[in-house]
Amino acid sequence: MLEKLHKSSISITDIASQYWCERQMELNYRYGKRINNSIRQGRALHEELEEEVNVPIILQPKSYADALYKNVYTSYMALLALGSNKKTREVQVYGSANGYKLVGKVDMLEIKGSTLEIVEDKTRGNDNVPSSAQQLTHKVQVMLYRKLIVDMQQGSYSYKNFESAYKAEKLAVTEEFKRQLDALGVKSGLASIDAVAKAYFKEMMALPEAGDVLTIRYINQFTGKEIKSYKFKYDEAEMAGTLQYAMKYWNGEREAMPVPKEESWKCRFCAFYGKECKVWWPQKVL
Ligand code: SF4
Repeated sequence: MLEKLHKSSISITDIASQYWCERQMELNYRYGKRINNSIRQGRALHEELEEEVNVPIILQPKSYADALYKNVYTSYMALLALGSNKKTREVQVYGSANGYKLVGKVDMLEIKGSTLEIVEDKTRGNDNVPSSAQQLTHKVQVMLYRKLIVDMQQGSYSYKNFESAYKAEKLAVTEEFKRQLDALGVKSGLASIDAVAKAYFKEMMALPEAGDVLTIRYINQFTGKEIKSYKFKYDEAEMAGTLQYAMKYWNGEREAMPVPKEESWKCRFCAFYGKECKVWWPQKVL
C-alpha cells in the first residue's frame, strides 16, 4: 500500500485514522487532505503551545536529507530541554512494525518523579467532550507513541535500525543547509544526520522509563482552556491487536474498509461523502 499511496513510511496518525475510517484515510492520500479552518486553528494552537516550552528553531530544508535532519535535530533539542525543564513538546519518534517504518510526533513529554509521562493534546472547536469513536482514535495514537518510545528506550529500535531504515550514514545535507546550521551555532560534529541521530537515540535512552498511564487532554482551540483530561492504562495485548489489524491493510491483505453501517453517521462529516465514496450514500428512488 505504501507504494500505491506514494509513501515511504506509515505515520502514527495514519494508523489512528484507520480506527475512524480506513477508507477516508486512504482517500486523503489519493485525493489530497482537505484542510479546513478548524484544522488550521488547531495547528496554530499547537505551535503556540510548543513555543511556550521549546525555543523555536528556524531551519529551511532544501532536500529530503535536510528535512530529515531538521526533524531529528529539533527533537534532539526538545529532549535536551526535557532534562532541564522537565517538560517538552513536539518530539518526533521513530520505530518499525512488520518491516515498515513508523513515525510520529508526540505532543508533550513530562518527567514526573522517575517516570516519563506521555501527553497528547487534541483541540476542539467547542467545549463538548468528544464522542467515544473520536476518543478511540486518540487512544490508539497515544498508545503507539508509548510503544515507539519504549522500543527506543529498551534498544529494540536503536540507532542501527534507524540507520538501516533511513540510510543515515549515506545521506548528506545540502551546502546551503550546512550554512544555516553553522549560523545557528550547531557544532560541525553534530552537522550530519548520523551524528545527530546517534545523539538523539542516546538522549532517548537516558530518559526515565515511559509510564504505562497515558494522558489525552482536550483543549478548546479558541480559548486555549482545557475541556477535559483522560488518563488510561497502556495495554500490551491491546496494542498488539491494534497493530495486527492495521498492518493487514498496509500489507495489502485487505482493501480499505469503510465504516460499518452503525457508524455511517461519520460520513456526514466526511469530505468524500457522495463523491469519491458512496458506500452509505442514499440511493435515489427513480
Ligand atoms: S463517506 Fe463514510 S465510509 Fe466513505 S470514506 Fe467517508 S467516512 Fe468513510
